Amino acid sequence: MQLGAGRFAPSPSGDLHIGNIRSGLLAYVRARQTGRRFLWRIEDLDRVQPGAAQSQLEVFADLGIAPDEPPLIQSERLGIYTEALNRLEGRGLVYECYCSRKDIQQAPSAPHSPPGSYPGTCRDLLESEREQHRQRLQQQGRSPALRLRTDNVEVTVEDRLLGEITAPVDDLVLKRGDGVFAYNLIVVVDDAASGVDEVVRGDDLATSAPRQAHLADLLGLPQPSWLHVPLVVNTAGSRLAKRDGAVTYQQLRALGWTPDDVYSWIATSLGVIGAKGSWSTIDDMVAGLDFDRIRTDETMFVPPSEALG
Ligand code: GLU
Repeated sequence: MQLGAGRFAPSPSGDLHIGNIRSGLLAYVRARQTGRRFLWRIEDLDRVQPGAAQSQLEVFADLGIAPDEPPLIQSERLGIYTEALNRLEGRGLVYECYCSRKDIQQAPSAPHSPPGSYPGTCRDLLESEREQHRQRLQQQGRSPALRLRTDNVEVTVEDRLLGEITAPVDDLVLKRGDGVFAYNLIVVVDDAASGVDEVVRGDDLATSAPRQAHLADLLGLPQPSWLHVPLVVNTAGSRLAKRDGAVTYQQLRALGWTPDDVYSWIATSLGVIGAKGSWSTIDDMVAGLDFDRIRTDETMFVPPSEALG
């Protein structure tokens, strides 16, 4: 029987910062501790910076980690995503949406729907109305997006660290107007195709889990279990970003950080300090990390401004 798998799926939109690295390392450690394969996915349908995917893999290689299989590359899998979309379409669960972002912001929200969810403008149009909208979009050089018909069901998933996560699933986009498959659809298709049965990632994506679980159900795919890890924040308490200073691996290396320094910072950030000393390799992290005891609050990263030593 094939082992289950965990994965890291960074968007190749630039260099990894210490927060992304921390989430990826946690995914790796969890896979090793639970006997799963560790897979890598290149989510390159959007926001790609040339060379970034390779450089992200090199950062992990420098930290002592190689994925167990060649990375899955999303841009090579468009036929598989089309097939999944067709399956939903065959069940009457897909409709065209002609709204612009502004249309959605300005529409009155549907009763009982959460803020920001799709108000359902295009859900129940007549075919004659659809034809008019198609022509209007065509004149503007735009194409319709494709949305999932959901009736705002509320879905609950169980997260190993966060407990129950409940979120309404609105009529999410499956394929954007510019023809790009939407994140939620392809994550679900790829995780199932790779045998990913536990998803470990940053908790900024925790509220996507109910949507992804719902999509997996509709596609007849198994749902993975979930473990969302707290994010690294900047000194102002917001999610760490490149503009916060020396935060990427390359910048830290240039300031004299070694892989040991990365592991030792990660140990401290997870509250693992003391008797046994801190970590300096991935093996230390695999041996020393107890997911039942990690800090579940956010961790602040203060970028170094000078070279070490
Ligand atoms: N590519 C996504 C990101 O970099 C992560 C997707 C996922 O882990 O589900 O934020």
